[in-house]
Amino acid sequence: PDIVKSQVSLPRYVRVNTLKITVEAAIKKLKQAGCSLADKPSVENFASTVSALEPGQFVQDPHIPALLMFPPGTGFHDNQLYKSGEIILQDKASCIPAHVLAPPPGALVIDACAAPGNKTSHMTSLMQNKGKIFAFDIDSKRLATMRSLTRRAGVSCAQLVHGSFLDCDPGDPRYSGVEYVLLDPSCSGSGIASRLDHLTDEEGSISTERLESLAQFQLAALRHALSFPTVRRVAYSTCSVHRQENEDVVQAALQENEGKYHLQHILPTWRHRGTNTFPQADRCVRASPEQDLTNGFFVALFENNSERVDVKE
Ligand code: SAM
Repeated sequence: PDIVKSQVSLPRYVRVNTLKITVEAAIKKLKQAGCSLADKPSVENFASTVSALEPGQFVQDPHIPALLMFPPGTGFHDNQLYKSGEIILQDKASCIPAHVLAPPPGALVIDACAAPGNKTSHMTSLMQNKGKIFAFDIDSKRLATMRSLTRRAGVSCAQLVHGSFLDCDPGDPRYSGVEYVLLDPSCSGSGIASRLDHLTDEEGSISTERLESLAQFQLAALRHALSFPTVRRVAYSTCSVHRQENEDVVQAALQENEGKYHLQHILPTWRHRGTNTFPQADRCVRASPEQDLTNGFFVALFENNSERVDVKE
């Protein structure tokens, strides 16, 4: 019932892969290829600015550094910058988890459900390829795709691990010192704009049983992520519009870890917040085609209480 047919065409989002090229150099190359850069919009007027973009025009995103926005449908698959891995086609909402987790260069990180690897490669950019990312995925085909995509993107600090994140032992010395976990688990995908169209009919709707089983997996994975002894921050995200996979999972994990973790109020200028189903829900962000010109998405950031100055003893 909370799925609304999307009437919005999403902009083409392009993340500059700063492992290979600076934002300035990418903009220069795009201009040389005939594109024109319009003034960077503010967070307040970005939606109207993006809607008014003409073919060939682009702007820089006001929320996510290194993200550029082009009009809907702009083709890049034959573009040299794309082929060389200097730019990555990635929806804006899916850039939020790595952006808010913000692992610094040298960090030890787990990407729990990593394939095809867009968020791994985004984190690697932030880490300047320094440190280490253990990138788990249970699906060997998806992991093979990830291997070639991350290679093209110049990612060298990620170790791809074929297996279930749930089976990795938080006490294993390999993971001692892991301070950041990005958890983007399998979900119903109900926020993907191209799928929203057919989810309005009975046939396409997601059964309660399916949602329950997804939510169970998501909570188990989140619980596991929060159990790593040295973890400071865990980003949890889905491309689902269902609260069962979003606020409810986060609330349950918070309750289980009371006194140990809190939610950080992420992207304070982002107006579209978690649905108000529990006291800290507005610290999370939601995104939708209608309000944010992105796919439907949800992000929460858990932070260890020992990181918060006001709860330190
Ligand atoms: N984070 C990825 C990205 O940004 O490119 C997308 C991840 S996708 C939403 C979810 C992934 O979780 C799938 O590739 C799926 O194979 C993987 N997965 C499902 N169960 C898993 C498990 N128990 N352990 C590790 N990966 C799992």
